Amino acid sequence: MAEKIAMDKPIVEIDGDEMARVMWALVKEQLILPYVDLKTEYYDLHVKRRDETNDKVTVEAAEAIKRWRVGVKCATITPNAERVKEYGLKKEWKSPNATIRNMLDGTIFRAPIILGNVLPAVRFWKKPIVVARHAFGDIYDGVGVRFDCAADAEVVIRQSDGKELRARFPSFKGAGVLQGIYNLDASIESFARASFRYALENRMDLWFAAKDTISKVYDGQFKAIFQKIYEEEFKAKYEKAGLSYQYFLIDDAVARVVRSEGGFVWACKNFDGDVFSDFVATAYVGSLALMTSALFSPKGHFLAEAAHGTVQKHYYRHLKGEKTSTNPTAIIFAWAATLKRRGELDGIKELAEFASKLETAVKLTIERDRIMTVDVAKVSEPPVKGIATTEEFITSVKRNLEKLS
Ligand code: NAP
Ligand code: MG
Repeated sequence: MAEKIAMDKPIVEIDGDEMARVMWALVKEQLILPYVDLKTEYYDLHVKRRDETNDKVTVEAAEAIKRWRVGVKCATITPNAERVKEYGLKKEWKSPNATIRNMLDGTIFRAPIILGNVLPAVRFWKKPIVVARHAFGDIYDGVGVRFDCAADAEVVIRQSDGKELRARFPSFKGAGVLQGIYNLDASIESFARASFRYALENRMDLWFAAKDTISKVYDGQFKAIFQKIYEEEFKAKYEKAGLSYQYFLIDDAVARVVRSEGGFVWACKNFDGDVFSDFVATAYVGSLALMTSALFSPKGHFLAEAAHGTVQKHYYRHLKGEKTSTNPTAIIFAWAATLKRRGELDGIKELAEFASKLETAVKLTIERDRIMTVDVAKVSEPPVKGIATTEEFITSVKRNLEKLS
């Protein structure tokens, strides 16, 4: 690669915390800056910086994604009481991912990075299974009530137009618990649109699964909204692309997922997505460092990141001057996905091609050269003896990248 690849519009770059931040800098310096005349609009979401700006910097980063459409994010600390003490913070700031997701009205898509030497626990799986999780409402924003003896209960809704709606439970014979959950049509519609768009752009079929036979009103509404949006906005495009949309009952979907060879997007309600994204990740690749995650809005705003966190324990070792064997694969793939998308949007072929080379260089390093960090070495077949440090791994990827150009 003699000349650096020129860019037109910038990528929104969102920096983060701890070991993820250390790897972020290494990946940029070693694998991107020498080859791309990188244009980014940089937002530093280091936890201290969020604290200093009263979290304004997170809001600004989300605004920037609305402006430039494409971003890449490093893992960030979501402060709890311990972190407040550790970093001397003013308060337990909200999760930056939640703030950004709410501002973009986005859905999270998690996809495995498939390697020849990391065999899925389900032997039929050959193509990616992407889980799309609706990250709004359900039990995550529900209310729970514990009652002490036999009781009657009903749900009362007072609408803003003055109308009152009521629904009765059967009489309770003794002490117990009750839960109320809700969702909003607008949020379900955004979730459906983001799912249809993502699957279409990635040339994958879309599955949506729920339990409308039992949950007739609640799950029934999800099913109806997906069907309506499919017919009104996507059916023609899906037929033209040779793709399909299918609704399944959730238990049927689980059986079909396990028996399938993959190659589809599985849209899940909030709780199902919470459980099944971890199930697919563990069964597919066994390491969080081999999962990418993309936030995708119904308008097509895109934010890529690694699915793992800041890798706190490794960072403390790094601070002590020890060498770590932390896996930067998902961070490299997040950058690649972002460069690819920027290249496609701006019509810069070289940028998209470079992104593919970056992915190939990582795969060659692990699959052919059998150089890997400890997390992958543990699940590799056949097993490997030596394990690479974080830096050694990146150097090997760089060597392969240079040979590809
Ligand atoms: P984590 O950072 O994902 O790490 C959990 C464990 O998984 C690590 O200790 C390590 O296991 C393994 N691991 C994760 N990524 C790895 C990698 N790239 N290479 C090798 N091993 C890796 O989760 P956490 O420790 O629960 O959370 C730490 C911080 O991250 C928290 O403050 C949390 O708020 C934040 N977080 C942020 C995001 C985000 O910004 N998207 C997501 C999740 C968590 P071993 O120790 O066994 O090697
Ligand atoms: Mg989960």
